[in-house]
Amino acid sequence: MTLPRRALLRQALGLGGAALAAGGLGAAPAAAAGAADRTLRQALSACRPAGDPLEGLLAGNRRFAAAWAASSGADRTATDRSQAMAALWPGTCQLDPGALAQGQRPWAAVLACADARVAPEWVFDVGPGELFEVRSAGNTAFDAGIASLEYAVAELAVPLIVVMGHQGCGAVTAARSDTTLTPLLQALVAPIRASLVPGDDLGQAVQRNARQTARLLGERSELLRRAVAARQLAIQPVHFDLATGLITLI
Ligand SMILES: [Zn+2]
Repeated sequence: MTLPRRALLRQALGLGGAALAAGGLGAAPAAAAGAADRTLRQALSACRPAGDPLEGLLAGNRRFAAAWAASSGADRTATDRSQAMAALWPGTCQLDPGALAQGQRPWAAVLACADARVAPEWVFDVGPGELFEVRSAGNTAFDAGIASLEYAVAELAVPLIVVMGHQGCGAVTAARSDTTLTPLLQALVAPIRASLVPGDDLGQAVQRNARQTARLLGERSELLRRAVAARQLAIQPVHFDLATGLITLI
């Protein structure tokens, strides 16, 4: 693996320079980047963790979970909850919207369920422009989602993809049932059904689906597989517990 990262991945994708104009600032060769590009790159990286991006996500999740717990309970009013959750924001890094209008440099990608309760920005306490997100019911490795993640890795230099399953997932519940589904929903739950093991409860099925999805990303995408092999990308399945607000590596 001697090709530079950018050349390797861009070659695999067959991408040209047009991506820069589409917002992929991370694709710019360092030597060719002008002063303006360097300034923009710095502005777009202002919230990027200094160390391991996974540790950065977990730290954000601990902040979120504390606020989530503080706002939980039937005795809490809407105002109580609003204040508890709003208390997160003073500590959340926020990028310059003017810089975001010119490009993006997300430092992690999340493949998450479409469930209304699992918005990645909340779960990981990050601001706009930090996470590249792909979402569908059941957080499955569907073609357009994998292609989107290939773009994130090849063009935006994202070093981490998190596959996030969650407690009480409706798509996994549907996959485990005999309920009649529409043809499109049947197709959506097919990969979840393929991951099911008899005897698993819902929680175990959710985690198995997330781990299977993480494996499928590498199996179905040569670009992602090569990036992992070259240690330019990590793919990590996780589980989100709605009751505690905490993320667990699985
Ligand atoms: Zn779900």
